[in-house]
Amino acid sequence: MQDAVIITGSAAGLGKALSHTLSSIGSNVIGIDKNTSADIIADLSTAHGRQLAVTSALDLCSRPKAVVANAGLSPIHEDPFAILEVNWLGVKDLLDSFLHPLSKNKRGCAVAISSIGAAVGGDKELIDCLLEARISDAKSVLDKALKLSVVEAGIVAYSSCKVAVAQYVRANAKLWGEKGVRLNCVAPGRMETAMLDGLLSHQEIAPGIEALPTGIIKSASASKVADVVAFFLSDQSSFVHGQVLYVDGGSESLIRPNVI
Ligand code: NAD
Repeated sequence: MQDAVIITGSAAGLGKALSHTLSSIGSNVIGIDKNTSADIIADLSTAHGRQLAVTSALDLCSRPKAVVANAGLSPIHEDPFAILEVNWLGVKDLLDSFLHPLSKNKRGCAVAISSIGAAVGGDKELIDCLLEARISDAKSVLDKALKLSVVEAGIVAYSSCKVAVAQYVRANAKLWGEKGVRLNCVAPGRMETAMLDGLLSHQEIAPGIEALPTGIIKSASASKVADVVAFFLSDQSSFVHGQVLYVDGGSESLIRPNVI
């Protein structure tokens, strides 16, 4: 297969919407998911699953055009440690592994999916552990949060991973740029998928989601967010590199208007 776009978490939500958007304009898509409807079935919560995802995708296309590291678990997932595995290592390990193959494609680029959660939270110690590849220290930090509650630990794990993902993109702009591969980040706000449905029906979490300020539109379909990811993958954004774009109807600007 030529010039494929590899998408993790392709079986539902944003990954599924993006697969449709790209297929409809003639792109070759390779979907990776733990769900059986994907081209490659791999569980990104394990090192073996992440390795399988990379080798299987490269077997199908050795010189991919793009990678979208999208798969993520919700903050209310029952195992906060799995959130670290999927939402951080499932992004970082895959992007690290795909850099060289992407560099062999003249138009190689990648997009990592963060979240509005990056603008509202995160634990500095945990974020530092993730970015410094001290995963066992990260698990110890999370253990402390777990003593408060599973929900608290899930929120801390989720928002910290999403900060780390955005910082990974900024910190790697030099390395990736030198290899000729564009790397950007999209951070969705309230996006109408099963993940948002789950959060809105959770008694402890829903009030925080409802309290997010709205700049212009309260929520959007996954295909609206997919359009922005597709822009980052297109030649129209060939001068955009190392950026984090909140696609959130303005929530992030209202929360922290002085951050630029
Ligand atoms: P979703 O739950 O609807 O879909 C996630 C997909 O990822 C599913 O197909 C699932 O099977 C897959 N996945 C989960 N764990 C996996 C694993 N271990 N291995 C392989 N695949 C796995 O989620 P979504 O709302 O489409 O979210 C997509 C991305 O957007 C996530 O990174 C999420 O954190 C982020 N996000 C979502 C929202 C929102 O409101 N929905 C807001 C901000 C950020």
